[in-house]
Amino acid sequence: MHELIDLLEEDPGKIEDLIDSLYDSIEKTDGEVQAYLETADKEPLLAEAREKAERPLKGVPGTIKDNIQTLGFKTTCASRFLEDYDSVYDATVIKLLNEAGSPVLGKVNMDEFAMGSSTENSYFQTTRNPNDLTRVPGGSSGGSAAAVAADEAIYALGSDTGGSVRHPAAFCGVVGLKPTYGLVSRYGLTAFASSLDQIGPITKDVYDAALLLNVIAEQDEMDSTSAANPAVDYSDGIDRGVEGLKVGFPEEYFGDELDERIQDKAERWKETFEDIGAEIVDISLPHTEYAIATYYLISSSEASANLARFDGVRYTSRADTESIDELFSKSRDEGFGAEVKRRILLGTYALSAGYYDEYYGKAQKARRLIKGDFDDAFAEIDLIAAPTSPTPAFKIGEKIEDPLEMYLSDVFIVPINLAGIPAMSIPAGEVQGLPVGMQLMGESLSEELILRAGYAFENAFTG
Ligand code: GLN
Repeated sequence: MHELIDLLEEDPGKIEDLIDSLYDSIEKTDGEVQAYLETADKEPLLAEAREKAERPLKGVPGTIKDNIQTLGFKTTCASRFLEDYDSVYDATVIKLLNEAGSPVLGKVNMDEFAMGSSTENSYFQTTRNPNDLTRVPGGSSGGSAAAVAADEAIYALGSDTGGSVRHPAAFCGVVGLKPTYGLVSRYGLTAFASSLDQIGPITKDVYDAALLLNVIAEQDEMDSTSAANPAVDYSDGIDRGVEGLKVGFPEEYFGDELDERIQDKAERWKETFEDIGAEIVDISLPHTEYAIATYYLISSSEASANLARFDGVRYTSRADTESIDELFSKSRDEGFGAEVKRRILLGTYALSAGYYDEYYGKAQKARRLIKGDFDDAFAEIDLIAAPTSPTPAFKIGEKIEDPLEMYLSDVFIVPINLAGIPAMSIPAGEVQGLPVGMQLMGESLSEELILRAGYAFENAFTG
């Protein structure tokens, strides 16, 4: 995107070629990749882009996950329940992107209500990994990552509750940044687990992620958890390098579940960091083994409360019934898919009287210990590096019948959301033609450092 912005700065007339080429590539590729659920009409989009030519993003359009309210488009959350739901306002991130000069090209596929790690839980279609069409793009922002990787988008927004920006970015070979909890407004993002949800950019390179964070990181009175913007320019000084930084590699992220080929790649990551002047430190995050259970209890509990609003009366499609009780239950039965129902049942159970302390209460305590691991680590080091996912992209259909296997794909990404800290997945090699992602994690509000280290790594790493 940044090269395009420079180009358009010199010759604003080039916007027409850019938009033509995006529609051409969607036309040519999306039949196979199936990332888009909806695209803007071309002529009005071009007119809008031209109008915005003077603004910082120069009319370069963005692609948006379908759980973010965007006027002029539906917001289906890839659910049958919201099949006909038109957005009623612009999410704060959309408002900010428009103000900065980036209109919306289209809305993309996801796991239903952002629950999943493969984008197979969409009611509408299964998005495919552009690197190998027999494989999943990861999830839940699979449409966002696949669109960017397939050149069907310049950049995309996703949401990350338990890895959903970083996981598909790793599987598709692009960059995905989950900001510190609260740095980016959640206003207009359909709530999944409100204490974990965060919107983040998916881009072709680290510099683009910095440019987008400059636009979307802004305190918002419409989101009571939004944090004061540290008034940082994330792209300025991104090339300052990592000389003298301490990068920790946590032993718990290099255990048996990690694909050996990724284990080998990680040796190259260490060498690269050393080449550019960073120091490698072995560290431990001892409560990592509790992260999956903790995350699935907390996120499902919050989801069971958040999804109560979808009832067949407001927003959603309504089942044809005789009684009011039946209206709720039949609408929810028909509207939600299997994975969403599984989460609602799990969460309702974990919150129910008699089980609350044993499950939800315990999970909250474990969450504090996991956060404590990171606090202890960051007292000694500057950044943590680890694989984003234990395996490269798996086959479509491989894990969909086994929810636990699917959940285990998130083992290295959910601790970050539980701790509320920022992390970015960047392309870091390939195994048998499939991209591998490396995740950089930092303490709260350390995006500037993460982006700087990511930028240095990206320039130095040779595969
Ligand atoms: N795989 C995680 C889940 O299914 C990711 C969720 C997310 O980040 N939206 O809950």
